[in-house]
Amino acid sequence: MIIAKFGGTSVADSNCISRVLEIIQNNPNQQVVVVSALSGITNMIQESAHCAASGDLKYQKILSEIEARHFACIKKLLPINKQSQVLSHIKQQINSLSTLHEGVYLLRELSPRTKDHMLGFGELLSYYIIAKTAIAQNLDVGLENARNLIFTKNDIEKNSVDQQKTFDSIRSYFKKSKHRVTIIPGFVASDEEGAPTTLGRGGSDLTAALIASALDAEKLEIWTDVSGMFTAHPKYVKQARAIKKMSYYEAMELSHFGAKVIYPPTLQPVMEKNIPVIVKN
Ligand code: ADP
Ligand code: ASP
Ligand code: MG
Repeated sequence: MIIAKFGGTSVADSNCISRVLEIIQNNPNQQVVVVSALSGITNMIQESAHCAASGDLKYQKILSEIEARHFACIKKLLPINKQSQVLSHIKQQINSLSTLHEGVYLLRELSPRTKDHMLGFGELLSYYIIAKTAIAQNLDVGLENARNLIFTKNDIEKNSVDQQKTFDSIRSYFKKSKHRVTIIPGFVASDEEGAPTTLGRGGSDLTAALIASALDAEKLEIWTDVSGMFTAHPKYVKQARAIKKMSYYEAMELSHFGAKVIYPPTLQPVMEKNIPVIVKN
C-alpha cells in the first residue's frame, strides 16, 4: 500500500489534475491518494470569511470566483453526460459555504470553530471532483470524507490529533473498503463531538502521514512543486540544492525552521513506523 499526497499546486487546475490522474493510473500498487484544495482556494476562503466578519460584501465575489474555478475544472475534466451530478454536488457545497458566510456577516463574528469549518471546504470540493473524474476514467476508486476518519481533540486552536481514535477509524474503514485507489481530502477532520475541524494550515501532509502510519504503508509520497527538501528555501536562495536523503530528525528540524514543503507534525506518525517519506515534483 502506497500513500500519495498531492498538494495545492499539483491540483491547481484541470491540466494538473489530469497529470495527477495519469500518475495514479500508471502506479499498479494499491494506493490511498490524499489531495489538497486547488491552489489558493484555502487562502481565498480565509479572505472571504474575514470580509464577511467585517461586514464587507466582497465575500460574495470571492465565493463566485471559487465556484467558477471548480466549475471550469468539472467542464474540462468530465464528459458532458457525467457533469451535471458533479456540478450539482459542488453547487450544494458552495451553497453551504455561502450560508456560513451569511451567518458570519450577520453576526460580524468569526469564531475559530466557524473558521475551521469554512476553511475545510476547499478540500471537500477538490477531492470530490478528482475522485469523480477518476471514476469516469474507469479507475477502481473509492472516496471517503476524512471527517469520518481523522479526529482532533477539543483544543481547536492547537488541532491536535486523537491518534488512537483516528487509527481505529482508518483501519476499520480500509478493512471494509478494498478499492485499488481511495481518494481522500487532506486537512479536514472532526472533533470529539463530530464538529468539523482541520489539522491546521498545511495539514494535508499530516492527513497522509496518519493514514500511512495506521495502515503500515510501504511508503509515503509527498507530491509538490519542488524536487525534494532543499538546503534552504529554493525561492529565496539561489544556491539551495535538494538533499538526497536525510533522517526523520533532520527533516523535522528543517520543517520546524520553515521548510514548508513538509508540515512539521507530519513526520512523527511515519517515524514511529519507519515508513520512508519521498518528496516528489
Ligand atoms: P503543497 O501545496 O504541495 O503542500 P507547499 O507550498 O506547502 O506545497 O510547500 C512547497 C513549497 O515549500 C515549495 O514551493 C518551496 O517554495 C517551499 N519551501 C520552503 N523551504 C523549503 C525547503 N527547504 N525545501 C523545499 N521547499 C521549501
Ligand atoms: N489547503 C490547506 C492549506 O492551504 C491544507 C494543505 O494544503 O495542506 O493550508
Ligand atoms: Mg503544504
